[in-house]
Amino acid sequence: MAGNQALVIAGAGLAGAKAAETLRTEGFDGPVVLIGDENERPYERPPLSKDYLMGKAERDSIYVHPADWYREHDVDLRLGAAVTSVDRERHEVTLADGSRVGYRKLLLATGSSPRRLQVPGAGLPGVHYLRTVGHSDGIRQAFQGAERVAVIGAGWIGLEAAAAARTAGAEVAVVEMAELPLLRVLGREVAQVFADLHLAHGVDLRMSAGVDEITGASGRVSGVRLADGSHVPADTVVVGVGITPNTQLAEAAGLDVSNGIQVDASLRTSDPDIYAAGDVACAYHPLLKSSIRVEHWSNARNQPQAAAKAMLGQDVAYDRLPYFYTDQYDLGMEYSGYVEPDGYDEVIFRGDKQRREFVAFWLSQGRVLAGMNVNVWDVNDAVQALIRRGAPVDTAKLANPGVPLDEVGV
Ligand SMILES: Cc1cc2nc3c(=O)[nH]c(=O)nc-3n(C[C@H](O)[C@H](O)[C@H](O)COP(=O)(O)OP(=O)(O)OC[C@H]3O[C@@H](n4cnc5c(N)ncnc54)[C@H](O)[C@@H]3O)c2cc1C
Repeated sequence: MAGNQALVIAGAGLAGAKAAETLRTEGFDGPVVLIGDENERPYERPPLSKDYLMGKAERDSIYVHPADWYREHDVDLRLGAAVTSVDRERHEVTLADGSRVGYRKLLLATGSSPRRLQVPGAGLPGVHYLRTVGHSDGIRQAFQGAERVAVIGAGWIGLEAAAAARTAGAEVAVVEMAELPLLRVLGREVAQVFADLHLAHGVDLRMSAGVDEITGASGRVSGVRLADGSHVPADTVVVGVGITPNTQLAEAAGLDVSNGIQVDASLRTSDPDIYAAGDVACAYHPLLKSSIRVEHWSNARNQPQAAAKAMLGQDVAYDRLPYFYTDQYDLGMEYSGYVEPDGYDEVIFRGDKQRREFVAFWLSQGRVLAGMNVNVWDVNDAVQALIRRGAPVDTAKLANPGVPLDEVGV
């Protein structure tokens, strides 16, 4: 038992590992306990739908730290150990094996889980979800022998899986309820770019399509029956219909939870000794002046560093702009900023949209809220500076690649 001097982290993903690292780099020399229910030490998930899935990255490359880092830094890493409850009164967490760990401060970094498809046949062999390295191994193996892959859900993970399946040589269909891939996150103007990208690579896009059933034959998946009665044949199905934050512990402990665990700008929950960071946290953002939950790598990497400092009593406010990236076929992009689906009135393209080499900007009342550089590099800092400045821009200058981004003001 570490006693009540320990700083305890529930969830050993990227956020948990980065918090542990920061506690040590900030000089904390008391007990640090990092508890994760997976059997793997903390790893990064983005490669699981990209290079690792395509067999281009070694397993060793996905881990946050080398295996001996935890021992060398005296971090008590407990794997295969689920935290089952938090006793706020006694300042203790209970693990699945019944053991208890006392905490002085607790960080909840429990991440999120794939939303499950609720249709007949969803449990058939050959139907895959993608969250863990084990899932990625299973899908890679399935893609190797697959002739026809159906991807349900045209979000980031669905589209990346579709690209990996095409690259592996399978026929691929993507089934999506909305009219375009990524419509809700990007809006029509830029969503069309991703639709065109996948069409150009021979993907059969089934948009505005509901799923009624996953069909089976001889005890395994044979395809997807759509709401209009049509059938998409498939020997492998990948489901990517979003995630839900793992808030169960926080809810049971009576913390404020609504679209994630509610935390202030210093990542503190409604209990002053409990913090949350990463996918599971809905944090007040001082620049955006609202609470947002970000399901992205950069947030899971940086936010827990602020949380760890706050746990050590430092005065911090996490105000980084949300940042995201993807790689699909020969398209690489970075996205910075934050826009609600109806929160913009204009999209300006700078560069060549047809060749997929451009920067897109989402504006509201002449101010840039978000930007995405597609196959254009070394501009992300300038894009972020523009968003942070929050001043009105001249849209003709913004659209002109000849005008530097720090000179586009009105
Ligand atoms: C396939 C894939 C590709 C992605 N690609 C990108 C990308 O290209 N760009 C990008 O920006 N983002 C990407 N993301 C998102 C990014 O990986 C996540 O935002 C990030 O993993 C969140 O980290 P986290 O530590 O908050 O949560 P998680 O990674 O979910 O880690 C939380 C850990 O806590 C464990 N846990 C949960 N409950 C308990 C409990 N009660 N007790 C103990 N342990 C518990 C979980 O099992 C998990 O191991 C991708 C995600 C996936 C799945």
